Amino acid sequence: MLLHRVLPFSKRLLSETVLAGETVVDATAGNGNDTEFLAKLVGDSGSVVAFDIQHEALDATAERLGELNNHVELILDSHAKVDQYVKKPIGGAMFNLGYLPYSNDLTVVTKPHSTIEAIHKLLGLLKKGGIITISVYDGHEGGPEERDALTTYVRSLHQGDVHVVRYELLNQRNNPPILVAIEKVREFDEVRCV
Ligand code: SAM
Repeated sequence: MLLHRVLPFSKRLLSETVLAGETVVDATAGNGNDTEFLAKLVGDSGSVVAFDIQHEALDATAERLGELNNHVELILDSHAKVDQYVKKPIGGAMFNLGYLPYSNDLTVVTKPHSTIEAIHKLLGLLKKGGIITISVYDGHEGGPEERDALTTYVRSLHQGDVHVVRYELLNQRNNPPILVAIEKVREFDEVRCV
């Protein structure tokens, strides 16, 4: 199958560009599925820095990781502060927006301002040729606003600095996610916005 659903497609993009031994960021750890994927991708010599603002999420992630935990740093803080924790170049980053699945409190959701701030900072840290994937859910309260703010932001990014694509399955029911993927095509410390 060539036309994957959004999550497998985002993993495929990262698999193509992340190298063993690199540092990568899971911006929204949640239940740890993506953290586990990234930890396996970078291997024993690499590291994953995973953020979430909910204790519950980081506990679930730690449990899921088991021994993979050795090269994962779990950070209970907003991804918007990524620059305080990650000081070296990264091979890639992954966002999975929205709320923590299976949580008792589905009102804790990612927010446009912090999501965009995190992406902006991560683009500075990203290696040339690296990819940031963002799975966007617009079926919950605040989701459409986050989708639209993110779309406006990524459309403004200078085409000489990054390539941005949007990928969605048009015939899937029940608000399927949309994938936004950003590839860094030039070295820079801060991406230009036009
Ligand atoms: N990637 C996860 C997985 O594999 O299970 C799913 C992530 S879930 C859809 C979104 C997560 O983002 C929630 O756990 C939520 O607590 C977290 N979140 C919301 N705002 C955040 C922020 N500012 N910084 C970091 N995480 C945040």
